[in-house]
Parts: sequence; structure tokens; C-alpha cells
Amino acid sequence: MSTTNQTPQNTKFTYRRFKEGDTEYRRSQERLFKASWTYKCPTYVQQTPPCQGQCPAGEDIRSYLNIVRGIEKPPVGADGKPSMPWQEYAWRRLTECNPFPAIMGRVCPAPCQGGCNRAKVEEYVGINSVEQFLGNYAIEKGLGFAKPEVETGKKIAVIGGGVAGLSVAYQLRKKGHQITIFEAHSKLGGMLTFGLPAYRTPRDVVDAEVKRITDMGGIDVRCNTRVGKDVTMEQLRQDYDAVFIGIGAQAGNKLDIPGSDAPNVTDGITFLRGFNEGRIDCAGRHIVVIGGGDTAMDCAAVARRLGTICDAQREDENKTKVTIAAREGSSSVIKPLLKQSSEVVIAYRRHVQEMPASKHEIDAVIEEGVELQPCVAPVSVVKGADGKATALRVIKVDWVNKKMVPQEGSEYDIPADLIVCAVGQYIDWEGMDSFKNQKNVANVDKNLQAVGQPGVFVGGDAITPLLLTTAIGHARIAAEGIDQYVMTGEVQKRPKVDKKLFDMPANMTKFGVKFDKVPDGYTRATCDNKNAVHNFDDRADRAVIDAKDLFLGHFNHTPRNERSQHTVNADNVLGNMEERLIALTEAQAQAEAKRCMSCGMCFECDNCVIYCPQGAVKRMPKKEQIAGRYVTTDYFKCIGCHICMDVCPTGYIQMGLGGEGN
Ligand SMILES: Cc1cc2nc3c(=O)[nH]c(=O)nc-3n(C[C@H](O)[C@H](O)[C@H](O)COP(=O)(O)OP(=O)(O)OC[C@H]3O[C@@H](n4cnc5c(N)ncnc54)[C@H](O)[C@@H]3O)c2cc1C
Ligand code: SF4
Ligand code: SF4
Repeated sequence: MSTTNQTPQNTKFTYRRFKEGDTEYRRSQERLFKASWTYKCPTYVQQTPPCQGQCPAGEDIRSYLNIVRGIEKPPVGADGKPSMPWQEYAWRRLTECNPFPAIMGRVCPAPCQGGCNRAKVEEYVGINSVEQFLGNYAIEKGLGFAKPEVETGKKIAVIGGGVAGLSVAYQLRKKGHQITIFEAHSKLGGMLTFGLPAYRTPRDVVDAEVKRITDMGGIDVRCNTRVGKDVTMEQLRQDYDAVFIGIGAQAGNKLDIPGSDAPNVTDGITFLRGFNEGRIDCAGRHIVVIGGGDTAMDCAAVARRLGTICDAQREDENKTKVTIAAREGSSSVIKPLLKQSSEVVIAYRRHVQEMPASKHEIDAVIEEGVELQPCVAPVSVVKGADGKATALRVIKVDWVNKKMVPQEGSEYDIPADLIVCAVGQYIDWEGMDSFKNQKNVANVDKNLQAVGQPGVFVGGDAITPLLLTTAIGHARIAAEGIDQYVMTGEVQKRPKVDKKLFDMPANMTKFGVKFDKVPDGYTRATCDNKNAVHNFDDRADRAVIDAKDLFLGHFNHTPRNERSQHTVNADNVLGNMEERLIALTEAQAQAEAKRCMSCGMCFECDNCVIYCPQGAVKRMPKKEQIAGRYVTTDYFKCIGCHICMDVCPTGYIQMGLGGEGN
């Protein structure tokens, strides 16, 4: 079939209905708005919701929320029953992009929620609480990832077994490539294992989500192997079809002031690694943490939990008896110690409101008894006769025109048995120097391919230290580039909105809808092929839908279903390694998903069917209803009044040109 439009068509679905042989060209202007009728008719326009637009991982959030709330249902099997429970179906949709939902649902600062249109009604949708619910469900049920259907025979080396490396391994394994992960540490997980404390990312949760990836088969893990030292980059380039670098930013910035060479001055990454490896069992009486980011909050919170050891001989009623694991290297015997709380101060050079750490974590450490001292800058480390630090000398500062101005003569000392400098990390490129730029981060193009180094891709903190979700997003993009590179030798241009977009045709195929190939090779709906969405336009790869394009009046004010927390405060923080967050129940998760307004995609509210004065909008027959293909318009009846568009809560309906008589 050829259309009335002579411009060359691409091979994507267009879903416009024309009769076979309908080639006559008619000027649109003559057909628009003639008295009481028009050729301007509803079109169904998929756009990217802003939650997804702001999720660095690029999760298809709207889509899995629509499954949780029961709008999109799992495909039905041969026996007429759902092929899987809805929870699993939603989890599988979520993990197309992010293989770590149980972790991200706990510790992602959720930039997605910052973008959520629901805030225009009352408050954002609690996306990561639903994410946590689905992640927990999959762990409880022991769900695994599907093994690849084909083996390509291609071999990919992944350097670094953190979130970036593991996510890339997952994405590439799905495509049938053989993976080898080279990890410098004794265990996979990167910062999840050696950085974030277990009360934020419980180790059984981390282990379950990591193991699920390695259980896909075809992933060879080589721990205790540092690339650049134990094996060279050149060797990997020779032995593998492509290489991914996900080495993170594993080195903490050091304090650079007089006296900072004292043995009891360390950096945040070293301190947390020592704690996570079980090598630190007490922090000291007075701890000073320098910094205002997540790492600083974690250091302070860990120090409050560790406390300081008291004289074990003296039984003191006021002292708390806690049990902690013995140091690594000794036996696995649990060693009882008498402990009491440490006094922990966070010294930060700006105001509290400007701390980069998530508000949630700042509030938590305050509740746990950490003292914040903002607007102070470190001057020197005060040492005792034994050369150890006894205090951190700071100076009060003002901020004038964004410039820090020290207050002369305002220096004072904060007592310290331990000073932890948590002011950022850097990337250790030893043995891989050719990949870094002057800023000590990787030089990459939009496909995350190292500039001038075809076949080598980079992701995660090695590009710039940010978030777990960023590393997951990088991994998806890099994996697509690697796949294209090893299969075709070329890497394609990335779309403007570079997210894991909902692929309606692929979804329809999953439900058994077959598309007929028409003789000219285009795959689109025709007058004889009804298996398509009538006038569907997929703009998701270039448009993010704004709240002003929704019909917000449709939505009632509904309070957010917030997760509750175990109370950890100054009185019970010592030795308290319990997880703080309490996951939503299934009913709460569904209620929260129902608050989603499904921006940019039909959620089957029936408004257009109910309000159309001409009865021109009809539901598709039940058996043919698939996410996004719920209604159809009879263009014989439509008069172009655009009431359907006005009452569509999701902005899915927009007025465009309809086809005459079809
Ligand atoms: C204390 C702390 C708290 C944080 N809290 C949060 C949070 O709450 N939420 C959030 O979203 N983000 C948080 N982050 C950031 C997050 O942890 C990182 O963005 C994320 O871990 C980056 O993942 P990655 O895989 O790039 O690097 P990493 O997790 O650092 O993993 C890199 C891996 O590469 C290995 N490696 C390094 N060099 C080599 C080599 N030469 N050869 C072989 N292997 C090598 C390392 O051993 C490591 O396992 C936090 C970071 C820290 C430090
Ligand atoms: S990964 Fe983070 S930003 Fe993305 S959906 Fe989950 S909570 Fe939101
Ligand atoms: S209402 Fe739903 S689809 Fe819209 S931005 Fe929020 S979570 Fe995303």
C-alpha cells in the first residue's frame, strides 16, 4: 500500500488507516473545520512521563505502576489463566531496565519523584516505595532472570563488579553475550558491599540481587583481580570483542591541612570500607566528620552505631552492653564489649540547607544524635604529644556572593579521637591512564564509548561520581552500544529522550497480536489489518509530557502512602544495625500505584467514551484491549469537537489529522 503522502516513510509503525490504493493527495486546509465538522480528529500520542524523564536509570515507571494498579494485566497462558502473578509481571517490566529494584527502592534519592506531575495535584507518587515492594516480592519468591534465547559467541570483559559493571553484565547477558567480570575486591557489589552500611542496604538483599545476575549463566566472575595490575588492559582488548570499564570512584579525597598526616585522620571511603569489612569495631569517644554529602552522613551514622569501648572490667549501669562481630582475621566468635555512645560532630562549610546529602539522611542523623556544625572550614589538625589528632581546628565562615569569607579570629577546636574527611572521591586509573581526561574522569561520547577508543565503553562513577541509578542508566546505554558494536561494528545515534521506552508494538506481540507485513515492506495498520492502534503516534523518544497537558481536574486529592520507619534515635542508636525503612504492604503499594496519573498513556478511565457527544469513541473489543490500545474513534461520526482531548486525564489524546472516511 502507498499512502497519500509522497515523502518516504520509515519502517516504524504508523497506525494510520488508509484504504489500499488510496493515493490521491488532498490539501489538509480544505478539509479542516468546515462548519460543524472537521478532519481534525483524536490521535493517541504516547509521550514520556516526567518521572521516567528524571530517573537516571530510565525506568519505565508508568508502565509498572499501571501493572501494579491492575490496568495492564499479565498475558494469559494456554490454559486461559494469567501466565504469571501481577507482582512478577510488574517486576519483570521494572527490571528490563534496572536489575536492582530492592536496593534502589531503599536508597535511591528518587529524582523521579522530584519530576512527578502528581505534585501538581497534592504530592508526588511514592515511586521508590513501590519499587521496593516489587524488589522484595521477587526476593521472597526467588524469582530469577530468564536465560538468553540465543548465544552470540561474543565475549565482553567487564572491569569492576559494582552496580555499573553488574548492570552491564545483566543487559549484555540478556542479549546472549559471554561476560567476564574482573573485580579487584574479594566480593562483587562495589559501594553496595563496601560503602553503604548494611542498615541501609541489607546484605541479604544485596547478595540476592547480585546473585540473580550471576545465576543467568555465561557470566564468569574473577574476584581479587585488578585490571592494570593483575591483568593489562591491552590483554583484555586482545582477548575480548569489547570492554566495559565500571571501576567507580573508589578512593576518598584526603584532608589537606596542616597536621592531617596524623594516624587517626582518615577519609570516608576508607572508614566505611573498614567498617563493612568488619575491621573497625569502635569509633572513639569524639568523632568529627567533615563534609555534607551522603558519605558524610553514612560515616556519622556508623560512628554513632559503633560507639566507643569502655573499661570492660567496670560494670556501669549507664553503659550499654552490645555484641559485635570480632575483627576480620580473628575467629568468627562474637565478642561482647562494653560500649557507650560516641559524640559525633559533622563540620560543614556551607549552610545545612545546602548539604548535598538527601534530606532524609540528614534528618536521620540529627535524630540519632549527631551534631551539625555548619559554616565552618577546617584550618588544621591539633595533635597531642604522641602525634595523634586530639581536635580539629575550624574557623567560622560567612558566604558573600557565593564566596566563602572566614570570620577573622573565630577559630575554635572540636575535640576528636578520630577525624573522617568525607569530601568526595576520585577515580584510581592506575594502569588505565589513557582513558582519563584532565578532570580525572573518563572521556566518553553520547554512547558512552571512550573517545578515540572504539570497543571500549565506560559507565558509573568512572564517568563522574553520582548515584547508583546513574550507574544503572549508563549500563543500559553502554550495553546497547556494545551490542551494536560487537554485532555490526557500528554504534547508532542515541534518541533525544534516552530512556527505556515502553514499546507498544513489542508489548502487543507478546499478547499474540500479529502484524502483517505489507508488500512494500512497511509494517503498519491498513484498512484490512485491524491489529494496531488507530492513529497512534509514539513520540516518547523525543517528548516528555508536562502537567499542563493533563486534565488534572480528574484527580481527587489522595494522600501519599508513606513508608513508616523503625525509630532510631539518640537513645537506641548504639549497636543498632536494624534496617530503618519498613516496606509498604501489598495493599499500600497498590493504593500508591493508583495515585499515578499515567502521564502520556491511556489508563482506561473511559472519559472519552462517556463524554463524546457523537458516540464516536468506542472501547476496543475486550479481547483486543492491550495497554495503550483501549479505545478507537469512528471518524465517520467524529466532528472534531475535541471534548475527548479535554477530558483525557493523561494527555494521551491530542487532536490531529484523521483519515477521511476511515
Ligand atoms: C558512602 C556512600 C554512600 C552512598 N550512598 C548512596 C545512596 O544512598 N544512593 C545512591 O544512589 N548512591 C549512593 N552512593 C553512590 C553510589 O554508591 C555510586 O554512585 C555507585 O556505587 C557507582 O557504581 P559503580 O559501579 O560505578 O562503582 P562502584 O560501586 O564503586 O564499583 C566499582 C567496582 O570496581 C572495582 N574496581 C575498581 N578498580 C578496578 C580495577 N582496576 N580492576 C578491577 N576492578 C576494579 C571496585 O573494587 C568496585 O567493586 C554512595 C556512595 C558512597 C561512597
Ligand atoms: S531508580 Fe531512583 S529515580 Fe529511578 S525510579 Fe527508582 S527511585 Fe526513581
Ligand atoms: S503521575 Fe505517574 S506517570 Fe505521571 S509523573 Fe507521576 S509517577 Fe510518572
